[in-house]
Amino acid sequence: MERSHHPRTTDVLTKLPGFASLFAIAAGLIVILGWSLGLPELTRMIPGFAPAPLRAGATMVLCGVALWLVRDADAGTFRRFLSASLAVPVAAVSLIAIGEPITGSTIDWARLGSRVGGVPGLTETLPVNSAWGYLLTAVAVWTLCFRTLSRSRAPQWIGLAIFLTGFFALVGRAFGVSAFYSPMPGLPMSLWTMVTLQLLGVGVVFARRWFGFSALLMDKGPGGKLARRLLPPAIAMPFVVGWTALIFERAGVYGTEVGSSFFAVTIVLAFTWMVMRAARAVQRADAERLAVLGREQHEREVAELALVTAEKASLAKSDFLAVMSHELRTPLTAIMGYEELLADGITGPINPQQAQQLSRIKASAQHLLGLIDEILTFSRIEAGRETIRLEIADVNRIIEDSANLVAPLADEKKLGFVVHLLDPPRFMRTDAVKVRQMIVNLLTNAVKFTETGTVSVRAATSGQNVEIAVHDTGIGIAEENLDKVFDPFWQVEQKATRRAGGTGLGLTVTRRLARLLGGDVSVQSSMGEGTTFTITIPGLANPTPPAVPTTPT
Ligand code: ADP
Repeated sequence: MERSHHPRTTDVLTKLPGFASLFAIAAGLIVILGWSLGLPELTRMIPGFAPAPLRAGATMVLCGVALWLVRDADAGTFRRFLSASLAVPVAAVSLIAIGEPITGSTIDWARLGSRVGGVPGLTETLPVNSAWGYLLTAVAVWTLCFRTLSRSRAPQWIGLAIFLTGFFALVGRAFGVSAFYSPMPGLPMSLWTMVTLQLLGVGVVFARRWFGFSALLMDKGPGGKLARRLLPPAIAMPFVVGWTALIFERAGVYGTEVGSSFFAVTIVLAFTWMVMRAARAVQRADAERLAVLGREQHEREVAELALVTAEKASLAKSDFLAVMSHELRTPLTAIMGYEELLADGITGPINPQQAQQLSRIKASAQHLLGLIDEILTFSRIEAGRETIRLEIADVNRIIEDSANLVAPLADEKKLGFVVHLLDPPRFMRTDAVKVRQMIVNLLTNAVKFTETGTVSVRAATSGQNVEIAVHDTGIGIAEENLDKVFDPFWQVEQKATRRAGGTGLGLTVTRRLARLLGGDVSVQSSMGEGTTFTITIPGLANPTPPAVPTTPT
């Protein structure tokens, strides 16, 4: 995860719902304590402000606990149920308070207040605007309790409304507009409620941070950075400036006109400064983005260059291998030619010991030739120079030819050798020489890595594909090596490999040839039990070729 440049700001925003809940609980408890101990100052928060009624205290505690329970999106069913239940009395108390001025009080709050030690007749009535804020909080809690609703924008809008209810009252109080904070004369919203509602509103907004404006504020990109930087001063500045202007005006330092001008000038300057700061931040972010883009472009170019170089190097290597093996092949064929001349006794009679030595020379030379051929094929494929010669071929014929080449090796090791042919025979359109080369490779390996038991080759058809499975009861291949056996020059470090020699290219060549023909080779094996390599190649011809119209001659 990428760290933002403002980890602390976003961390604080994440913790806001929890903090708001705890604040509401504490505020509510202080208010209740104030009433029950008969200390009205506690219910005012700051002397001079209206006291919070007892009901507000209880409501704050309930709201705090309810929000605390569902402040995380992963709150369980029980927590959500409990939270929703706690919001019910909040809504009820608020609705009654809103209804009271209209229907007339039906409950003797004064008596209730005095019973818990309250100051009777003072402020037992919950102001309508406070009640409205708490009612909204109950509704917000409910939206947070329902999974689908909590993922909508509803909580955010309701949270905003809660915040504004508190903020509006605070502004009214600061500017002395009594209608704003005391819509019913003599019943002002308490400072506790103003602050609690603002915090609860913000808490609700940030309880689900993945959509709407909370997502924007949490955003790690330039948008979020900008919003986090601009929003607090945008809210606080007019408030503070307006208030300061008003205080000086009230103190008689200057008149209304001067106050308004002072307010206008300060706000203009402040906002100009903020806009410039924002613009600079955007400019910096954009420059950063361009730098990153430039770097990526550069990295891409470097990677492309490396690829081209690697391809060139690979081609050079393949060319080198091809030339080398070709150059080795020529003298080797000469050696084999002269060996034959000597063995046939054309250049003079040879004794049995010489004959045996000549046969060893022949075997070694043939082995060497096989290796060179393998390298040659590999480098041709690597260089993309291997060509395909398609023909219609009898599948069984290909398999028999390959089997005949390897059967003597199996005999030598006293292994069973089984060939299952297609019945009825089928034809395929493919490069028969390459298919034979693949089968011989697999059969040679099977014999090489099997000490007792049987080696078999079985042909089958599947759709338009021919499947040729070469099975052995040999040493097997460890699970973790199953993929590696197809890697060039890879060999299991084991006695059989060392004894048998080989290049580690056989399977590489086999797989590449199979892919060249549009098919593939797969392997299944279990250690100590045996191995099955399966070649799958497309190109199975129709069993009954369409009759060719014969033209009379
Ligand atoms: P080479 O046979 O020349 O060593 P290959 O590419 O044909 O190279 O095989 C790579 C390795 O895969 C072999 O060295 C061997 O360890 C393993 N392998 C191939 N075929 C078998 C088999 N039938 N049973 C067990 N191991 C095998």
